[in-house]
Amino acid sequence: METDRADLIIRNGTVVTASDTFRANVAIVGDKITAMGQEPDWDADQTLDATGLLILPGGIDPHVHLQYPQGPNRIVSSDDWFTGTLAAACGGTTTVIDFVEAGPDQTWMQAYAQRLAEAEAQSVIDLGFHMAFNRADTQSLAEVPSVIEAGMSSFKIYMAYQGIRLTDAEMLLALESLKEHGGLPIVHAENHDVIAHLVQQCLAAGRRQPRWHPSTHPAVAEAEATGRALTLAEVVGIPMHIVHVSAEEGLMVIDGFRQRGQVVTGEVCPQHLLLTDTLYEQAGFEPAQYVMAPPLRGEADTEALWRGLQHGQLNFVVTDHCPFTLAQKRGERRTPGGTVAATPETPWSDGVPPFNQIPGGAPGIETRLPLLYHFGVNQGRLSLNQFVSVTSTAAARLFGLYPSKGTIAPGSDADLVLFDPHQEVTISADTLHHNCDYTPFEGWQVTGWPRFVLSRGEIIVGDGQFVGSRGRGNYLSRAC
Ligand SMILES: [Zn+2]
Repeated sequence: METDRADLIIRNGTVVTASDTFRANVAIVGDKITAMGQEPDWDADQTLDATGLLILPGGIDPHVHLQYPQGPNRIVSSDDWFTGTLAAACGGTTTVIDFVEAGPDQTWMQAYAQRLAEAEAQSVIDLGFHMAFNRADTQSLAEVPSVIEAGMSSFKIYMAYQGIRLTDAEMLLALESLKEHGGLPIVHAENHDVIAHLVQQCLAAGRRQPRWHPSTHPAVAEAEATGRALTLAEVVGIPMHIVHVSAEEGLMVIDGFRQRGQVVTGEVCPQHLLLTDTLYEQAGFEPAQYVMAPPLRGEADTEALWRGLQHGQLNFVVTDHCPFTLAQKRGERRTPGGTVAATPETPWSDGVPPFNQIPGGAPGIETRLPLLYHFGVNQGRLSLNQFVSVTSTAAARLFGLYPSKGTIAPGSDADLVLFDPHQEVTISADTLHHNCDYTPFEGWQVTGWPRFVLSRGEIIVGDGQFVGSRGRGNYLSRAC
């Protein structure tokens, strides 16, 4: 123990990491943890009493979409970099990784510069980016080394969605390039043609309501694409990460490839662990709240995903936070930021968009830790250490942030959550901090909520109140 003087000491808490649980005081100097132990007489400018609280590594959410212009209509997700990261912080997340998705008239590096400027001006927590590998032309392939050099060593590949998806032939080129330069592919695995075919079939039959959305994204089309992605990875000889695994069939495919020796990791979202497709049976436009891809699945899938998380077949939990207000879901073209999206190509006969034009996604950035704690730890599905692993450590390791992020140790960034395991909260859009007028978990009661949150040694949430400042977040250059 070197330090006998610190800027801040957290006393009397229980430190939880992915491997250990122990009583310790934590000393912080500047933005780093400098010492941990039982020293009673360390001197500090400031003391936080963590009696009865768990001290966790700050949450890492490596899959969010803030201020994201989605789809051909470029409807912008309703949380900007300020509101979205503020909500993240209040929910115990101190690092997010978002995406750079270049428009057709931008190079990848131009898109990165623009995204970085937006984020750095507003983010209240540290952030990184994945680059969307949204085309495989000569120009883009030539940019791969610069992108990695700029700290984006993970690349998102979409197998579905016009305009951003890669064909198998393009994906092979992308994977070869990532192998050569040391990038990690992270893949949205759904069969593009199956979705397009089923959507056209639905619309032709006059099935326009949001309840039809899940029928156009069957689990088998996710499993097929997962297997195809992993086949291409095996052919090229490169590790691969599969984003938002939603169904048992996809999980089984991942497991099969892992047993063949393929290096593959997978992530899962709280909505796929906790909600099921019966929500689409509600009348009218209600199910629009759950229009997301992949969609909610059945009860058996949720159980399989929990088992996958318990047994390490799935490595961590992300939110895929991509909020749209109910007005946006209903076709409002103005975003909360004031931008007006293009008018739809085909007018809507009944005043609301058909399900395939409803912006896809749901909010969740603030509720990830409390939901995982309540339904994971309190209900006996996850140990405390597994909870830390799946909300922080495992993502830090995969995405090149460990050990400055994702653990509690001398030398690590002082990104910490003082979590009250007894605080009872009823989740409601009224009290969450995100800029969205609904939460899929409205009225749900959970026990366990972050009380204090520190980012690089600075208290940014104190007694549940946000006390940080706009733009204090740093860009994290990562090497996977
Ligand atoms: Zn996503």
